[in-house]
Amino acid sequence: MAGADSGQETGGAVHQASTAGAADDRSQTVLTKAADAVGSTEGAPLGKSSVSAEELTPTETAEARWYHRRSLQLMQIDFGLDLAFWAVFGLWVVRPLNAALRDLGGLFATETVRLVVVFLAMTALHVLVAIPLTFYREYLLEHRVGLSTLTPTRWAGRYLKRLMLSTPLSLAMILGLFWLFWLLGCWWWPVAGVVSFLLGAAMVQWFPVVILPLFYPVRPIERPSLRPRAERLASAAGLTIDGIYRIELSTETVKANAMLAGLGRTRRVLLGDTLLDQFTDDEIEVVLAHEVGHHAHRHISKMLVAGFAMSMVGFWLTDVMIRSTAAQPALFRYTDLGPTALPWLMMFFALWVFVSEPAMNLVSRFFERQADRYALRHASRPIAFFSAFRKLARLNKEYPDPDRWEVILYYSHPPIAERLELAQAIVGKEAG
Ligand SMILES: [Zn+2]
Repeated sequence: MAGADSGQETGGAVHQASTAGAADDRSQTVLTKAADAVGSTEGAPLGKSSVSAEELTPTETAEARWYHRRSLQLMQIDFGLDLAFWAVFGLWVVRPLNAALRDLGGLFATETVRLVVVFLAMTALHVLVAIPLTFYREYLLEHRVGLSTLTPTRWAGRYLKRLMLSTPLSLAMILGLFWLFWLLGCWWWPVAGVVSFLLGAAMVQWFPVVILPLFYPVRPIERPSLRPRAERLASAAGLTIDGIYRIELSTETVKANAMLAGLGRTRRVLLGDTLLDQFTDDEIEVVLAHEVGHHAHRHISKMLVAGFAMSMVGFWLTDVMIRSTAAQPALFRYTDLGPTALPWLMMFFALWVFVSEPAMNLVSRFFERQADRYALRHASRPIAFFSAFRKLARLNKEYPDPDRWEVILYYSHPPIAERLELAQAIVGKEAG
């Protein structure tokens, strides 16, 4: 629950709906959500709009549908597996483990030390349980539809890197949470809300300069033909031209994307090499204008504030849950909370993320439409919106007709058909 999105994408696919669960999943969420990418075209409430379908051949549509359905199924299985994992760990593993550690005495008499050991054991077991599914989802499935550029070794390297980043971070957050329980009692949750907001803001700020470059090479764009257009768009929105970068997404995928990321001095637009190499200047300008639109509308800061509100509610509900599920609620003391509460807290946070995600996605889809409108009004050739977004949808194998409930639950971006209809309403018929 630590944070809001750190950025905005143009064309991301379905949000990685990973729960805020064990370390590897959380990092995945952070990595996919810490930027606002351009190209997510998810779900089409308008149904079989001819606008989106006409560009795909029947074979392409069938493949996109298969990929879409399989991705959603895997997300649901992953979530179910996480809940089952924490239930099993909570019911049968954590108590004997905690008791055995206490019997060792010495350092292990300290609750904080036992918390660290229990957390690390839980994370390690979770990796073992979840890795086959993660490998299938991130490697096999992506290769099956021709989207991944990774070898198994490079996939493993990136997975390990993610784990090395997220494990200490999650551990620090868990320790902080328990110290707040022990030190502040019933005041823990508002303080946790404020602290997680500050951490979220720091994460958003450092994401493009510290975390992203660990996974993808990033450098300023060199494309002279693009410069005057970029300068015009950027200066209209008070963004410096130094803030536009090329990110080598092709180290991992053939999917095209772009994103706005960072906060204050680290604010920047990142355009994927996959986009820069395959799109015309007019199309890139539209995508860039979409990202600049996120900047102009202050969407990243607003998402942080929305995330803060969600965290506050989530922590308050956690407090209610903790007190009401105590063996003897009348005698409950916060200092009684220890390592045995950890799996249940993880499960509760995951459930809260699952429940609150549709609200965050609703806000996100609203922001995406605002950024699309901005792009259509500020790009010098708004007509290129149509070809740009069709190309994104085709390259990224986005299924044009997802069910409404899929959009509500999982989609951070409006479906491609909806985006093209909005464009048509603003700039008129494509041919015109
Ligand atoms: Zn966007």
